[in-house]
Amino acid sequence: MKKNLETICIHGGWKPTKGEPQQLPIYQSTTFKYDTSEQMARLFDLKDEGYFYTRLANPTNDAVARKIAALEGGVGCVLTSSGQAASFYAVFNICEAGDHIVSLNAIYGGTYNLFAVTMKKLGIECTFVDAEWSDEQIEAAIRPNTKCIFGESISNPGGNILDIERFARMAHAHDIPLIVDNTFPTPINCRPSEWGADIVTHSTTKYMDGHATQVGGAVVDSGNFDWEAHADKFPGLTQPDESYHGLTYTKAFGKMAYTTKLVSQLMRDLGSIPSPQNSFLLNLGLETLHLRMARHCENAQKVAEWLEAQPQVAWINYAGLPSNKYHELARKYMPKGTCGVIAFGLKGTRDDAIRFMDGLDFISIVTHVADARTCVLHPASHTHRQLSDEQLREAGVAPDLVRLSVGLENVEDIIADLRQAMNKM
Ligand SMILES: *Cc1c(COP(=O)(O)O)cnc(C)c1O
Repeated sequence: MKKNLETICIHGGWKPTKGEPQQLPIYQSTTFKYDTSEQMARLFDLKDEGYFYTRLANPTNDAVARKIAALEGGVGCVLTSSGQAASFYAVFNICEAGDHIVSLNAIYGGTYNLFAVTMKKLGIECTFVDAEWSDEQIEAAIRPNTKCIFGESISNPGGNILDIERFARMAHAHDIPLIVDNTFPTPINCRPSEWGADIVTHSTTKYMDGHATQVGGAVVDSGNFDWEAHADKFPGLTQPDESYHGLTYTKAFGKMAYTTKLVSQLMRDLGSIPSPQNSFLLNLGLETLHLRMARHCENAQKVAEWLEAQPQVAWINYAGLPSNKYHELARKYMPKGTCGVIAFGLKGTRDDAIRFMDGLDFISIVTHVADARTCVLHPASHTHRQLSDEQLREAGVAPDLVRLSVGLENVEDIIADLRQAMNKM
């Protein structure tokens, strides 16, 4: 039976039968037992399916991965130990030294660093493009050795909305996939694969968990990109893997080629798996994701409208506001709402912004967003402090930008806290 998102949030991935636990069990075990040596040998020859070691597969992790795949409408999903690992694996699964990627410049600071600095050390170069550029300018960045375009459906922290269809069109015109980090809207508010994205990534640390309990990530394959049709570009998927019985992923696994390669090569060799305990916590969060996203958006919309009317506020970026330049894109791609994160600037000096944040009562200063508690952050002095002013502007982060993550408290209380802190500026 085809199920709606709300039902998948609760029932996806785990189907207990007679006498089995109603709640997903935590298989907190590194390994799994077999009765004969022959049984184990068949697993390693890929003749039988079964669990043997948690770095490669674990029943709790797999159940949660199946739920996220279903939510995103994908054919396969792999959980990772963090969102950073998900971004790295998603790209590195189709790249190697000498290759090149194109990324939107307005992305999470950690991902920017990963692409600009760390992957460069591995011999993979990244060109950053601006969504404001023309198609010709963006496509000029794509080279013969370019392997993907990467962007965020809603950028963190700027709140820009990605025109997914436009970037999918440009990627596909050059025979490469579009990878979309869908952390902020979650599949409840946006399913990038329905608009042409090929691979979807998540920091499950944010709304999917929603209670600030675990750090995690996910890579979902839509199954839509035809690797075989561009076999020369993606030899890792379309030519024999000597480290894996010489099998060819696309031939052996069809639509599951990308996901299988990610597990059997990258997880095997790099090992960024989540603990089953963390996947259990993530799953509890997912059970209420549909309820929480709706309330995050409802609260954030009221807070954004209030902020926009305050004389102390210099500018505000929230795509739910009709005055916002991304409002039309948000209505198209996220008709139910965007997310709870608002970016705004305060008039006055940097000290005023600090006085405002220090004057807050229950709204906390944390390096986090997207959970039940309302919180603030000043990216220029916190998350993005390793970036120069020029890189900050490139990443779409104004030096006066305050990132407000609107939680699930009573919205009148949230506004009252913001008001009293602004009065202290
Ligand atoms: C937080 C975040 C990441 C990184 O995820 P971690 O779980 O912190 O490693 C990646 N992308 C976006 C959009 C994020 O908000």
